Amino acid sequence: MNHFPIFLALEGRRVLVSGGGDAAVAKLRLLLKTTARITVVAEDPAPEIAAWAAEGRLTLIRRAQEPGDALCCVIAYGAHEDAEADGRALRLAAADGAIVNIVDDLARSQFITPAIVDRDPVVVAIGTEGAAPVLARKIKAELEARLSPATGLLARVAKTFRKTADALPMGAVRRRFWAEYYDEAGHRAAADGEDAIRATLHELLDTHLKADDRPGHVDLVGAGPGDPELLTLKARNALDRADVVIHDRLVAPEILELARREATIIEAGKEGFGPAMAQDAINALMVEHARAGAHVVRLKSGDPTVFGRLDEEIEALDQAGIGWSILPGITAASAAVASIGQSLTKRGRNGAARLLTGHDMKGFAEQDWAQLARPGEVAAIYMGKRAARWMQGRLMMHGAAPVTPVTLVENASRADQRIRAATLATLPDAVAEAAGPVVILLGLAPRRAGEAILNREIAL
Ligand code: SAH
Repeated sequence: MNHFPIFLALEGRRVLVSGGGDAAVAKLRLLLKTTARITVVAEDPAPEIAAWAAEGRLTLIRRAQEPGDALCCVIAYGAHEDAEADGRALRLAAADGAIVNIVDDLARSQFITPAIVDRDPVVVAIGTEGAAPVLARKIKAELEARLSPATGLLARVAKTFRKTADALPMGAVRRRFWAEYYDEAGHRAAADGEDAIRATLHELLDTHLKADDRPGHVDLVGAGPGDPELLTLKARNALDRADVVIHDRLVAPEILELARREATIIEAGKEGFGPAMAQDAINALMVEHARAGAHVVRLKSGDPTVFGRLDEEIEALDQAGIGWSILPGITAASAAVASIGQSLTKRGRNGAARLLTGHDMKGFAEQDWAQLARPGEVAAIYMGKRAARWMQGRLMMHGAAPVTPVTLVENASRADQRIRAATLATLPDAVAEAAGPVVILLGLAPRRAGEAILNREIAL
């Protein structure tokens, strides 16, 4: 990031626009939204500028810019649409101590003006550092459509109500009150104007004052396999509202970024054989925060119901009398088969697919090897790296063919995803190459060879 976004206080401060053509008019339309004291120096100003001057909205000086014109200006614009004239404007204004923007000249500008979505006092600024103006316009259009025109009014009325709302205890309760206001109640009232909004705020406040001893809630949320776009909308909304996020180590940092900025983020371990927070300690954490009234998001990789020790957590919450919900996610096996262009089940091949774990609490996990060794069987094996050689032995002992296709998908759905096509015979060697989390797809080969790193020296 080469340009740091800030919102500059302009009330009563001077801004200079040098030039009087179309570019100047366009900038002035934006600047006139502010409370700045605007001066335009232009030999031949456009009629709009003259009209604004006549209305007293800006000061117009009908001559070329001179030294001192930008004295006491915080910012100045060179808007001549002419390299030489703008160069002069830049030199003069900079010498006067202003920071200068040359319209449409990123290289010479000392700051850039973002595209904005204006719901005053809510303003969204969009900048691409000149890299993608079309994208900026697209984002702006999307936000314009998404932010209801009432947004500004809601924020303005809210500002006058902040002191009153301080009657609510700080933290989760107060946040829930405002969330409800901005999510729905406020918007519904906005159609009937400012008084209706104020009445709604009072009603909401009463409700929340009565409910301030409401215990917290735990959402047991699936974070998906890693790609943030594979999060469900429900998971996103839960993250948006969370007071506390307790996450597994496998949850990708890009997903944690989506949590509400004020949320407390706690890592609770659990990855393979690495160090981990004891399950009891995780349970205690959830209970403690929920009891304090927090909205807790217990964020687990993939789907929380798949090898997630979910039941132990639910039991602990039930025992503590804390409400919970499960928000399903996309499990690693789904992302893994998708990455190799296959399906988990297929008519005429396998009418059932299994999700297996390579190890459990007691060590390597026993499975129905006789069944799994049969041709056409498909299984997605989680936590199978260490047990790979052992599983290979079991399967072969029960008659599985050494050439049975096996595909390893490492870091499924992430930027560093790797697919290794192997066979049962080469499984342990293929596993040894993987550093990240792996799903072993037994009985499936990538649909197209090009999708995989074929372990030639091993597989062939
Ligand atoms: N609840 C998770 C599984 C947790 S067990 C889910 O539904 O996906 C942890 C195991 O999941 C890892 O050892 C690995 O086998 C698998 N895993 C999780 N994320 C993965 C990913 N992005 N790519 C490959 N395997 C993954």
